[in-house]
Amino acid sequence: MNESGPAIRVRKLRKSYGGVAAVRGIDLEVAPGEIFAMLGPNGAGKTTTVEILEGYRDRDDGEVRVLGTDPGRAGRSWRARIGIVLQGAADQPELTVAELVGHFASFYPSPRRPAEVIDLVGLTGKASARVRTLSGGQERRLDVALGLVGSPDLLFLDEPTTGFDPGARRDFWAVIRALSGSGVTVLLTTHYLDEAAALADRVAVLSDGVIVAEGSPAELGGRAAGQAVVSWQEFGGTRSERTTEPALLVTSLVSRFGGEVPGLTVSRPSLEDIYLELIGGRP
Ligand code: ATP
Repeated sequence: MNESGPAIRVRKLRKSYGGVAAVRGIDLEVAPGEIFAMLGPNGAGKTTTVEILEGYRDRDDGEVRVLGTDPGRAGRSWRARIGIVLQGAADQPELTVAELVGHFASFYPSPRRPAEVIDLVGLTGKASARVRTLSGGQERRLDVALGLVGSPDLLFLDEPTTGFDPGARRDFWAVIRALSGSGVTVLLTTHYLDEAAALADRVAVLSDGVIVAEGSPAELGGRAAGQAVVSWQEFGGTRSERTTEPALLVTSLVSRFGGEVPGLTVSRPSLEDIYLELIGGRP
């Protein structure tokens, strides 16, 4: 195992289901301790990619290393270093939170203390509660606790906050940041731009099986800040142009109109506009 290398390294990954090309040549690199988000609409290929990285799905082509090992050939000691947060992992309604986390801990060679994990996900007051009495958001926290109790070096989170209320999402983000602060690498998939922007060190935007943009949230936001849309009225309708030099365009419009430009507006696209454009422009 190459412990000094990236936590995840993917080159030219491909996967088709029959005639459907789900992943069409993806390159990825995630550094140890990083929070990396894969953002994209339904069917973009996020789950397929994550399942290949987890060792649960075969690939057709490409190179994959997760913690220095090919997940397609990895053994138990590798698996013990991977945490997977599944929705509804806690399907033991009559056990208490502490019992269930303790039970999962017994599967691993060097687990975290169950009480510490329960604290970390903010379920301290619910340790003695039966699983069936938890709210939806508390159940998801329990799912995270079960993914963490094996003391993984790398945690996979698939759409972790779907169905959360806004306060619960913020609390959950704080849990993930704390984990990352303790050195755990996190790879999450999400449909939510705000989640990726708030949480991730780096984001890959997937659309139709390819990565259409990658960078820190600030870099992706910089794409938005670098462009402006200038609109005005002319020939009985609205005309607009996208430009990185709005002042130059406005100056030329002013000289063309000989003064005031009818209906002139200059606006900056938001990060969301850029995202929608990225995923809308599918090849
Ligand atoms: P979502 O956000 O909806 O979970 P996703 O980005 O995770 O989507 P995938 O689940 O990886 O996307 O699906 C990518 C493509 O592969 C889709 O067109 C999907 O229909 C197809 N696909 C996924 N799993 C299978 C399967 N087991 N058999 C056939 N096609 C599949």
